[in-house]
Amino acid sequence: MADLDPVELGLKAEAMIRALATISAEEGRITRLYLTPEHRRAADLVAQWMADAGLSVSEDALGTVRGRLDGPGKRLLIGSHIDTVNDAGAYDGTFGVIAGILGAAHFQATGRPLPFGLDVLAFGDEEGSRFPATLLCSSAVAGHFDPETLAVESVDGVRLEDALRAYGKDPGLIGEAAYGPDEALAYVEAHIEQGPVLERADEALGIVTAIAGQSRLIVTVIGEAGHAGTVPMTIRRDALVAAAEMALALEALARDYADDFMVGTVGKITAAPGTANVIPARVSFTADLRSQSDSVRLAALARLRAEVQAIADRRRVTAWMERSHDAPAIPCDVSIQDGLARAVIAQGGQGLRLPSGAGHDGQAVGKLCPIGMLFVRCRGGISHNPAEFCAPEDMGRAVATLIAFVEGLADEG
Ligand SMILES: [Zn+2]
Repeated sequence: MADLDPVELGLKAEAMIRALATISAEEGRITRLYLTPEHRRAADLVAQWMADAGLSVSEDALGTVRGRLDGPGKRLLIGSHIDTVNDAGAYDGTFGVIAGILGAAHFQATGRPLPFGLDVLAFGDEEGSRFPATLLCSSAVAGHFDPETLAVESVDGVRLEDALRAYGKDPGLIGEAAYGPDEALAYVEAHIEQGPVLERADEALGIVTAIAGQSRLIVTVIGEAGHAGTVPMTIRRDALVAAAEMALALEALARDYADDFMVGTVGKITAAPGTANVIPARVSFTADLRSQSDSVRLAALARLRAEVQAIADRRRVTAWMERSHDAPAIPCDVSIQDGLARAVIAQGGQGLRLPSGAGHDGQAVGKLCPIGMLFVRCRGGISHNPAEFCAPEDMGRAVATLIAFVEGLADEG
């Protein structure tokens, strides 16, 4: 069992993280976008690691690299993504792929027969940094790829379909990427937490309860422009201060629902005419609401709508809300959660459970089969940032936990 030593597994993971981090479009920064030469090089390195681990390697029509360990019956899928945001950290996505490879390598090396097959998946486009679409690879694997997406254009003006052809792929074969409904046993992903909960709890690992549902809105407020020096405060119809009060209402509301891990954010605001000496007449701002409970999120949304209206009435401005994006919460399978918790506890952890406020490939694969996620603490909760850091010993614990989880699943038959 020498190769189940978390310290050794952590050092292996760290070396692989470092190797992938050198593959970038930009000197001194990590930027690896979907279907670029950097994606190709990263996919080739991952394929090499899979082959070295004794897996049989293939690549589907959207570029997902697949390493297979043969076994009877259904297949357990373990994966994550190898694309990054611009100027990214080294661990987001990559660690989950590496954990899958190290886990599969363990079973290949020990020769322990599993009562299921095991596939390690390296998806190419979770972040959506190049094309205005996300989870393309994982959607195709789940059999839910939308062919209309082939027409979307990248930030560098290339249609997805053309980018796929340039990458050597045939979009006509995307359907073959899908697992059959009776083929996939479950999907499990290890990922850095991207938040501070585990670090604050002094825990290396956590079990994800659900990937939070999300509503994104655009709120528009119309007041009246006027001279900043001459219009008395009592008769102003200032759209910006009304919007500010609405943002505070959103914050208070999210705090009220904190037990359901509700978070609310105003991330962007524009004011017109946008001049220092004119009262703002037209303001629009974004609102992002997330919770692991869809009913709580929808209740909060209804309350926000009522409060926005009440503030608008009181301030004699007009306001309306438009929904720009809605995604339901994706629950993690309870028996997978329990299996991961047993594995975490066996490694000396508490088995702490928490939702994921960020989106992940599991959202797409959840349409195919039960999913589970293991979170690993990252320093300061920082991600999407070069300062992203996950300690090798924590990565080693996560890989050992993943292996113990798969063994537990095998013992259950
Ligand atoms: Zn990620």
